[in-house]
Amino acid sequence: MRKARIVGRRDVLLSVTGLAAALAAAASDGTRAWAQGGGAAAAPPPPARGTQLVLLGTQGGPNVNLRRSQASNAVIVDGRPYLVDCGYGAVRALVAAGIGYAQLGTAFITHLHDDHMADVAALLSLQWTGNKSQPTDVYGPFGTAAMVEAAIAFTKANTEIRVTDEGRTLRPEQLFHGHDIGAESAPVQVFKDDRLIVTAAENTHFPDRAKAAMRYRSVAYRLQTETRAIVISGDTAYSKNLVALARNADFFVCEIIDQPQYETNLAAAQQARAQGRENSIAQHVVETHSNNADVGRMAAEAGVKTVVLSHLLPGSNRNSTAEYPDSSYIEGVRKAFQGQVIVGRDLMVL
Ligand SMILES: [Zn+2]
Ligand SMILES: [Zn+2]
Repeated sequence: MRKARIVGRRDVLLSVTGLAAALAAAASDGTRAWAQGGGAAAAPPPPARGTQLVLLGTQGGPNVNLRRSQASNAVIVDGRPYLVDCGYGAVRALVAAGIGYAQLGTAFITHLHDDHMADVAALLSLQWTGNKSQPTDVYGPFGTAAMVEAAIAFTKANTEIRVTDEGRTLRPEQLFHGHDIGAESAPVQVFKDDRLIVTAAENTHFPDRAKAAMRYRSVAYRLQTETRAIVISGDTAYSKNLVALARNADFFVCEIIDQPQYETNLAAAQQARAQGRENSIAQHVVETHSNNADVGRMAAEAGVKTVVLSHLLPGSNRNSTAEYPDSSYIEGVRKAFQGQVIVGRDLMVL
């Protein structure tokens, strides 16, 4: 059995002593981290060769706080960026990470909750206004193509003003294309180019009784490059499909709700049910997200090398000055998983 290794010290330093400690620690362990906003300079561009995973937004749920953006990740392959999820703050984070948004051409959305797609309209609008001339393709489960059309409609006035006033000729609908992909139990290839193969499988974020009444679905993605396999869970409870998708992956980027938060929601859900309400926000949280034990179990069953915890609950919601302790997430996951566990931070590069 491999000896457990925990990467948590750097993150503790980040929360305790701020940017100076972050930079010093980043230099010592080969990863990069930057403070967000506040005039901090953007990072240098990613390297021309190899595969990098950049955590753009690590907060769980539809929350806005100043320490973590909503869900978003970039995978950069030989200098070309691909986006997975685009929650609020993703565009700003792309700039802060040194990737930029102007030439980003491919995005994958795990599901259409707003904390995973709120910045899609901003991304596409700013690309068009910024004179992008090459297409941007957005892939995701049912509803994604309609969402891209709606994003174009959202920016209609901006388009008409600038076409009229600035003599522009290219239309957003010529550039931006949404693609609905399938949500199957077995992994299905949904994208391939010269650097990357992406497969998707349905996860367990939407309960059966909700799926019976709607066509929307939720998926996880596996991004396979020449050198790395990166799996991004999206939002999900324990999922056999996800275990199969994540088999032997180098990085398993997985959502997590920490045990105390899970139990608080469990009690609230039970109270709602006692009052005759089967569907409640608390019920949604406990039924469709992964607690520490779920994450550890999936990681162990899939045999992944490294777990990267992201879409954290509580994340940075509770307190604007003191970060929720990394150790709390890690200890729960380690009960089932013996490999490396990293607690994600915005702009962490792996
Ligand atoms: Zn979410
Ligand atoms: Zn969700």
